[in-house]
Amino acid sequence: MDLDTPVLDDHMHLDPDHGRGIDAVEDFAHLGGTHLLVVNKPSWHLGVEPGDPDAVDPEAAGEEFREVFERTIEVVERASDVLDGRAWPVLGVHPGLISRLVDERGFAPDDARDVMQAGIDVAAEYVADGEALALKSGRPHYEVPDAVWDASNDVMRRAFECGAEAGCAVQLHAEASEDMTEVAEWAEEAGLPADRVVKHYAGGRLAGPIPSVMSEKERLRVAVESGEPFLMETDFVDDPDRPGAVLGPKTVPRRVRWLLEEGHEDAVRRAHVETPRAVYGIDTVGTLGE
Ligand SMILES: [Zn+2]
Repeated sequence: MDLDTPVLDDHMHLDPDHGRGIDAVEDFAHLGGTHLLVVNKPSWHLGVEPGDPDAVDPEAAGEEFREVFERTIEVVERASDVLDGRAWPVLGVHPGLISRLVDERGFAPDDARDVMQAGIDVAAEYVADGEALALKSGRPHYEVPDAVWDASNDVMRRAFECGAEAGCAVQLHAEASEDMTEVAEWAEEAGLPADRVVKHYAGGRLAGPIPSVMSEKERLRVAVESGEPFLMETDFVDDPDRPGAVLGPKTVPRRVRWLLEEGHEDAVRRAHVETPRAVYGIDTVGTLGE
């Protein structure tokens, strides 16, 4: 199916070893999807457990994330072969890792922070080398002790510094909120423009960062009416143990078709051409048919 427009899913995961992998990309492309931002899975889902709480060596721990990042880069290459447009990797450290490090592996919050910042530093190397498009960071979306919250905010600020240095956008995983102006200010302080910060799993309205809207009709209606920049995503997790945990890979092209039927060509252009160009510097029109 050709929807006569680029169609970008701004945040999904692919797990060719345990999940559907390239099958999911074929479903997406079949319905008219053209471009994907593929975010690495949380490191512990891939059996990668960086660092040692009894002998903390952040630099060595940071290196352990490479396996996670390289798997994502590999699957993105294969996805690009299937798509009329292309896919790009988004690399980083899932903010939920802090709870795994502190609660299950016995790290002090500050040591967990150091390990996660080292992972962000390594992710930024891939961006600087042109192998990845953007960084992923954030903070827990659930209640945590103050020390863990502060450590998480420090990790996020490091991601902003790295994004500023590499000249790339930063995707955030964070608590449900319609006002993240304080976080956007931290990005600006670090030298990263607020409009290069994206909140994934967003509702249709958000002050501060750019919302990457979960592609449910109610949320999309709000984003369309806002007249503001937005992106569309599914957060497809590609995990056979969690079927239906999030939206499936066909959802973004289906919702684009629905928006076009409702006469929202402008909003489709905003979410799939203009905002991707402004936030990530990507050309979703020029990369069609490559
Ligand atoms: Zn995700």
